[in-house]
Amino acid sequence: MRRISLFGATGTIGDNALQLVDLHPERFTIEVMSAHQNVEKLVALARHYQPKCLVIGDAEAAAQVKQSLADFSGDILIGEAGLVEAAQRPCDVTVMAIVGFAGLKPALAAAQLGHILALANKECLVAAGPLLMRQASQHNTTVLPIDSEHNAIFQLLDGRRADGLEKMILTASGGPFREASRSDLENVTPSMAVAHPNWDMGAKISVDSATLMNKGLELIEAHYLFQVAPEKLDVLVHPQSVVHGLVSFSDGSVLAQKGSPDMRTPLAHCMAYPERINAGVAPLDLAAIGSLTFAKPDRDLFPCLALAEAAMRAGGVIPTLLNGANEEAVAAFLAGRIGFLQIADLVADVLAQFADNSQDVASLEAIFAADHWAREKARIWLEKAA
Ligand code: MG
Repeated sequence: MRRISLFGATGTIGDNALQLVDLHPERFTIEVMSAHQNVEKLVALARHYQPKCLVIGDAEAAAQVKQSLADFSGDILIGEAGLVEAAQRPCDVTVMAIVGFAGLKPALAAAQLGHILALANKECLVAAGPLLMRQASQHNTTVLPIDSEHNAIFQLLDGRRADGLEKMILTASGGPFREASRSDLENVTPSMAVAHPNWDMGAKISVDSATLMNKGLELIEAHYLFQVAPEKLDVLVHPQSVVHGLVSFSDGSVLAQKGSPDMRTPLAHCMAYPERINAGVAPLDLAAIGSLTFAKPDRDLFPCLALAEAAMRAGGVIPTLLNGANEEAVAAFLAGRIGFLQIADLVADVLAQFADNSQDVASLEAIFAADHWAREKARIWLEKAA
């Protein structure tokens, strides 16, 4: 039996992880479940899966959970402190699917368990990659990526020497606006941006996919996770989302991992690692798909990708700033405060204001200070734009 602690249980990754638990009740039990604010769903999940510990966003929501689960004998914890406490509870696999920078402190706590830390949250690695990876290696924690492209590359490199590695390529579906013009993009609404053609995902990552910031964040994620130099990382637009990642070697070999665009595949890989289990995913039918196409991304139309690449090359706290500014910009876009194209404008303007990149990126204080600085500048930008 593997004890799974599921952070972000009520989101899309949570749904997929629990489908795997349902398929393999003899293999998995649930230790922890957390939700930000969806009390109703957390209560229903707790009744069904009987975890030992629940975490919910605030005291009011916690009171509702307690009331609804009168006979629940486990712990009900609250907010960020509750997440960190729950993340320290012994388990075999932590599935970290909290959205955004808010996942960092619980991820750092979980990285000390010496187990498997399955990361769906890419913002943790973008904002604090060196710190998180150091913490994990000091405590013999295996960090496995749930993000499909990184999971693909992890599978491709597993056990292989990486010294002949020439390129590591992440594929991008191109998002819903792959064939749009700049004037089309001016009129993109939040509901258009969250309707992704291939993947069913939460709002934040869907907007990131539409701006291609998601792919930029993923390059930074790969840079820290696989400790590969920025010049060896690249992106290919691949609208069918069948090939998730490629690695090419100095002898000319190019390995590619393929699969249907279904998060249960990378989740199953992480949750059962190093074993393989049935993920309930239909077999990939390449003949039915017929053709796979690839193209270069358009960095002029999608400047967020170029901004993220520049942040990766700059290193230091610049990726942290990029992430903080982007989270604020996406939230403002989803709230109807700014247009789609202004997401990139905001991020670029915040980064342009930063002068001193000499902070110690392995320090939690420096990471939080940088994140705070970027969000503050983003708020000032938003006030001016209003
Ligand atoms: Mg991805």
